[in-house]
Amino acid sequence: MFNSSLQQLGSALRAGQISSVELTQLYLDRIAALNPALNAYITTDAGTSLAQARAADTMLANGTAQALTGIPIAQKDIFCAKGWRTTCGSKMLENFVSPYDAHVIGQFNNAGAVNLGKTNMDEFAMGSSNETSYFGTVKNPWDQSRVPGGSSGGAAAAVAARLCAAATGTDTGGSIRQPAALCGISGLKPTYGVVSRYGMIAFASSLDQAGPMARSAEDLAMLLNAMAGFDERDSTSLQRDKEDYARDLSKPLDGLRIGLPKEFFAEGLGNDVAQTVEAAIAEYKKLGASVVEISLPNSKLSVPVYYVLAPAEASSNLSRFDGVRYGYRAPEYTDLADMYEKSRAQGFGAEVKRRIMIGTYVLSHGYYDAYYLQAQKIRRLIAQDFTEAFKQCDVIMGPTAPSTAFKLGEKGDDPVQMYLSDIYTIAVNLAGLPGMSIPCGFGANDMPVGLQIIGNYFDEARMLNAAHQYQLATDWHSRAPQGL
Ligand code: GLN
Repeated sequence: MFNSSLQQLGSALRAGQISSVELTQLYLDRIAALNPALNAYITTDAGTSLAQARAADTMLANGTAQALTGIPIAQKDIFCAKGWRTTCGSKMLENFVSPYDAHVIGQFNNAGAVNLGKTNMDEFAMGSSNETSYFGTVKNPWDQSRVPGGSSGGAAAAVAARLCAAATGTDTGGSIRQPAALCGISGLKPTYGVVSRYGMIAFASSLDQAGPMARSAEDLAMLLNAMAGFDERDSTSLQRDKEDYARDLSKPLDGLRIGLPKEFFAEGLGNDVAQTVEAAIAEYKKLGASVVEISLPNSKLSVPVYYVLAPAEASSNLSRFDGVRYGYRAPEYTDLADMYEKSRAQGFGAEVKRRIMIGTYVLSHGYYDAYYLQAQKIRRLIAQDFTEAFKQCDVIMGPTAPSTAFKLGEKGDDPVQMYLSDIYTIAVNLAGLPGMSIPCGFGANDMPVGLQIIGNYFDEARMLNAAHQYQLATDWHSRAPQGL
């Protein structure tokens, strides 16, 4: 059961081979057994999950079930879910119970899926290792002395350890793709605006995008079908016709033109990752694809540009956490200003404070032109590089991350080293393009390696097709960590 695809689970549920209550209980038992070590979930609530499962069983019995009805999905703890504690990995929201559903949560509820619990994450989605979570680090299921990646590390670990059928994540600079790579699962960040950000706690609003995390491209397509769609409550949600992201899965890859950015295969990339990714490209050639070298000349500026723009937006978004309306309030203070200061000083962790300070600095009078405005200009150049590249190719491929999962604590004292974990993913967010990561083998210490696939705007169906055909020809995506 734990290795079944979403398609298979849906069929088993509709055929009455298993009920949603039974399936949900199986997962809850597995979470109870394995989560104390892995720490992939911040909150589970068996009563609420099982009540949803019973409702799903009613839909299954009366013929109103949809594709995901009755299937237990883990939700990143960045999504507000009515009646659920929603922490965003922060002490600031430790006791916050959401009074409403995020769009993504609502979409899964409408589909009859079961919310299995809220997954661990870096505080306010700031991090690449899940070590900034107030609720403790998540362990990589392949080697518990290593990080799962971040910020959607709990989601990636939960999928890899079979603690859910599938999960949601969010990706501002790589937070779906990088943990997917480090945990050996598949993850997709859609084109900016395809999935509504309503009720998704804001980090950097012009970059944030929700997406699915699962074991296969086929599962991702099914999840994206549920998540995508216009929502008037998010002003950046795009009004487009509904599409079936699974429509092209079975197309052959003959004639697919793959662009390989020379900047992605240069200094800084681990040899083990380079070799594994090159083997995956060779497999694509066998499947009928052709390869062309491309250049993304400004991509080297994506990390510095991101670390101006994302903190700028974060410093503004996080000003709402002031101890007044909701969230943490310092127990003792002298006056209003002191209450703000103490609540924020005690409620936020070190990385979040670092970002707020950088963001406030680059937006301040005298530095705005020097940093923020310059970064916005380079952001445009980075996007133009992709526009040029897509004149020569249909998809771009390369590594998702420069190395396999590193040791817990290894990069904790060096924020710049940590920031470089996203060197291959961030440009995609700056351009608003869709990107995904799929498992393509194992590198140093037998840890999983991710292949990144970047598509042109709204080309998710083609990317999923490319990923699915590779997964039909290989079995990296169905490998599971041993000993769990
Ligand atoms: N690791 C990057 C950061 O720390 C990206 C995080 C994300 O995508 N949410 O900001």
